[in-house]
Amino acid sequence: MLRHGLRTVIYGAPNVGKSSLLNLLLGFDRAIVSELPGTTRDTIEEVINIRGIPVRLIDTAGARESFDLVESEGIRRTQRQVEQADLVIQVVDGSRPPVNLQDFDGRKSLLLLNKCDLGAHPEWREFEGVRFSCTERLGLEDLNQSIWDRVMGAKVKLADVRVAINARHQACLQRAKQLLAAGRRSLQDAKSPEFVSIELREALDAIGEVIGKVDTEDLLGRIFSEFCIGK
Ligand code: GDP
Repeated sequence: MLRHGLRTVIYGAPNVGKSSLLNLLLGFDRAIVSELPGTTRDTIEEVINIRGIPVRLIDTAGARESFDLVESEGIRRTQRQVEQADLVIQVVDGSRPPVNLQDFDGRKSLLLLNKCDLGAHPEWREFEGVRFSCTERLGLEDLNQSIWDRVMGAKVKLADVRVAINARHQACLQRAKQLLAAGRRSLQDAKSPEFVSIELREALDAIGEVIGKVDTEDLLGRIFSEFCIGK
């Protein structure tokens, strides 16, 4: 999951605010928001970081029965995405009565009652879900907490999580840490920015080796020079 991200599908009827949610989480206008139902025709994928968990957000075409061919293909794709998802965020318009609610596996889905700025419809009272508003940016913390709870189980705190890494990753991360500390010292000593940038770049390269951004030749050279490998 740390490598590929938690596959998270944003699911819901047209116009409930799926694209608005995606944009809000991403922090920029990536999906087209429109007042016309059914405007998100392609799926959009982006990875965001929620409390250290990489969350791969997948926006889907509105889950609506339609005779429109393009839209129907979108709906088929949505079903496939839902089957493959680790988490489904079911978005509904919380200001209107419940309709077409899907019964997903509770362990891998959460209900997001959007548009709560328009007033909560009383029929949602019994439902467990995150009260949210994309326009007023309400409920973000609750959403993050719910995602965290789904992934880690409600009792796990971030501080308890240990990530298993191999010796090479450990060496890279230690080097990055030392370089960052050196960079901070240089800043405190008011050294020139060029000087600090060298340390920061080297720290980034060290992290790049873990996530595969440094080219293989370099990597092999480093492995053979630093680790004892049998012939
Ligand atoms: P989608 O079809 O589910 O992707 O929905 P959109 O994100 O395109 O939003 C549909 C409409 O609902 C747009 O006019 C949005 O501005 C509006 N909308 C989205 N979220 C909220 C919200 O939290 N409150 C209110 N009042 N309107 C919202």
